Amino acid sequence: MIATRPGAATPTRYYPSTTATFNGDLDYIAIENAMNGEAVTLTMAERIETARQLVARGFTLTDAGRRVRADRNTIVVWQNNGWAPPSTSPDPEPINIGNAQHGRSGYTKGCRCRTCKDGAAAAKRAAKKREAAA
Ligand SMILES: [Zn+2]
Repeated sequence: MIATRPGAATPTRYYPSTTATFNGDLDYIAIENAMNGEAVTLTMAERIETARQLVARGFTLTDAGRRVRADRNTIVVWQNNGWAPPSTSPDPEPINIGNAQHGRSGYTKGCRCRTCKDGAAAAKRAAKKREAAA
C-alpha cells in the first residue's frame, strides 16, 4: 500500500464475505463499505446485516450503530430480534367492516390494515396518557 503514512498501522479492512458479493437482497459490496465506515446508502435489511457482522467481529453495539447510523438501543432491538431482516410482507388489505370507519380508535372489528393498526396504536397511546394523568 502506497498511501499509508510510515509507521501507521494498516487499518483492518472488514469483509462480510470473502466469496459472495450478494446474498438474496443483501448487497455485500455495500455492506463491506458500511462496515469500513465508508459512506453508502443501505436498505434496512443491509443495515441490520452490517450491524450483525460488526458485532460478530467484536464491535460494541454503540460502535456498530455508528456505522449504520443507528443508536445503541436500535442495535439492541435488532440483536434481540435475532438480526432478522424487516418484514417485507405488505400490509393486509382493509376488510369490510361495514359502516365503521377504518382507523377509528379501538374499533377495528379485527381489521389489520395500516390505518386500523395506526388507529389502534393511537388509542393505546391515548389510554396510557389518561392513565398517567390519573
Ligand atoms: Zn382497517
